[in-house]
Amino acid sequence: MEEFGIKTSIYFGKNALEYLKKLQGAGIFIVTDPFMVESGLVERITGYLEKDRCTIFSNVVPDPPLELVIEGVKEVIKHRPDTLIALGGGSAIDEAKAIMHFSRQIGNLPDMEFIAVPTTSGTGSEVTSFAVITDREKGIKYPLVDQSLLPDTAILDASLVKSVPKTVVADTGMDVLTHALEAYVSIKANAFTDALAEKAAVTVLRYLIRSYTSQEDFRAREEMHNASCMAGLAFDRTSLGVNHAIAHNIGGKFKVPHGRTNAVLLPYVVEFNADMKEFNPRAYTRAAEKYAAIAQLAGIGGGNVRAGVKNLVREIRKMQEQMKMPFGFKDCGILPEEYQKQKDAVAQGALADACIRT
Ligand code: NAD
Repeated sequence: MEEFGIKTSIYFGKNALEYLKKLQGAGIFIVTDPFMVESGLVERITGYLEKDRCTIFSNVVPDPPLELVIEGVKEVIKHRPDTLIALGGGSAIDEAKAIMHFSRQIGNLPDMEFIAVPTTSGTGSEVTSFAVITDREKGIKYPLVDQSLLPDTAILDASLVKSVPKTVVADTGMDVLTHALEAYVSIKANAFTDALAEKAAVTVLRYLIRSYTSQEDFRAREEMHNASCMAGLAFDRTSLGVNHAIAHNIGGKFKVPHGRTNAVLLPYVVEFNADMKEFNPRAYTRAAEKYAAIAQLAGIGGGNVRAGVKNLVREIRKMQEQMKMPFGFKDCGILPEEYQKQKDAVAQGALADACIRT
């Protein structure tokens, strides 16, 4: 017997933020990053709330470190809010999840509603039981995995992603594709996760370049925002794979954005998982069949499994090129001699990563 349930209520489309008007209770704690305050996006949220009920914790940085979680836990225990809102990209949402998790454990706090409002279209963190926290001293990114990390509510308002710059659209968009493909070829995939992963992957292949090209293309940005959430729903059940296992370990040691790291690895991981032997045209894996199915759905199939996989890899590289993304880690600013020093630790860390162990 298998089970598929969705704990998080998802509000989306026009006026989705109006859900916030319903919030009762005395205290609202908002976890966010400094850009959200400067750009007025925090104001958009507090505009639906009574401002004197809100405490803003806006110290989040990309790839949030352990120390910041401890700082946030202390603040939450001090304020004892009824509601915790995460506003931002995956970094703000993951920071909020970890704060929520640890403050519940040690703070003897009343039940809090946890609401995630993503402002990037990438991680799907608003619907996953993962939170990625960085131990800067050890150079490791830890994916915490626990059902208690799942937000109660996710609000998808595509107007919040209009300001996302091109480089972040590219990085986060490729993160969505990586989530969708890793969920789709996972040994834990089922008919329901496949439906979500297929829709998410095909949407990225159709809309990411449009979303990258123009921030005025609301339709493309909205499609990508929904796809990010769908891919999150899929990989929350299936877990991820070798792509993310390596990416977490590169990301812990070098300062490269998460989605960009995934994008560099993705064509190699697809080829590795497909395992097509040049000398035997019939030799390929189940993963290859599934990659080819995605290519077929996206209209780049090519008639057989081998052609489908090759076309998918070609399409990924073409998108990287169109979005001026690096093809290798050297072009991400990692010095080859630094990489040499860390490569064994990256490999060992990847083998121990929760994405391939769960
Ligand atoms: P991010 O949250 O680190 O944000 C990247 C940059 O974009 C930041 O400078 C931020 O200020 C800016 N930004 C965010 N929203 C913006 C907006 N609307 N307009 C303009 N700028 C905006 O990036 P991310 O890719 O969303 O998240 C990456 C983090 O999420 C990594 O730590 C990664 O490991 C983690 N992650 C978590 C999960 C999960 O399931 N929990 C899955 C994948 C990745």
